[in-house]
Amino acid sequence: MSPLWSSLKARVSNRLARHLCATPHRLLNTQPMVSFTFDDAPVSAATTGAGMLEEHSARGTFYVSGGLADSWSGNWTAIGAEHIVSLHRRGHEIACHTFSHTRATDLTAATMAAEIESNRRYLLALDPSIKIENFAYPYGTGSVWRKGQLGKIFRSSRGILPGVNSDTVDLQYLRAMPLIDGQVDHDSIERAFDEAIDRKGWVIFYSHDVATKPSLYGCSPSLLRHALEAASRRKIHNLSIADALRAAGV
Ligand SMILES: [Zn+2]
Repeated sequence: MSPLWSSLKARVSNRLARHLCATPHRLLNTQPMVSFTFDDAPVSAATTGAGMLEEHSARGTFYVSGGLADSWSGNWTAIGAEHIVSLHRRGHEIACHTFSHTRATDLTAATMAAEIESNRRYLLALDPSIKIENFAYPYGTGSVWRKGQLGKIFRSSRGILPGVNSDTVDLQYLRAMPLIDGQVDHDSIERAFDEAIDRKGWVIFYSHDVATKPSLYGCSPSLLRHALEAASRRKIHNLSIADALRAAGV
């Protein structure tokens, strides 16, 4: 597939996916909520990031691509067996990306099914008690063609369309805010939490590595600390995606 065609298809499909709601659900949570999610699960997210969440008695969601396990991406090394099992045993959620990290818009129904099956097999071989309930679109690219399929397999799929989830949401295109230095500042985090309180909303953050000098896609410990403390100060419930969905009646 030519890169130009792939990118055009991704743009059109992602745009349509925003508007065509596959799985509308009215959130029934009685309290505002926040979830911290880490895509591709760099080692620093599983060590520094998870440790900081635990200091706040919180648990995060780690969207794993089994095909990237233990490998260097150019920006970080992704977690493998040891970290995945450790995160799971400590109560963090292990969730699904595509196995090879191919974007959803480049997959047919058959190749998407194969990607999910490979990831499921990889994770369950590490620990059969891992429950794989939720998905995040690689590169945040939603697919209008794959949403219905994902909705039959997962309770939710998360993109990177910014905004606070509230009232009726599309479970197969949950909104998320970057927790990425250079893309978000302290004020916008505070504003998102204020909106969550006003509308009983659900703020989902996405990030990658957690490092003093993060990649262009990750966050510093100080940015993560700011978000954790701002949520704690407001007594916003800090839950994994799976637990937040349960609180929202999904
Ligand atoms: Zn990813």
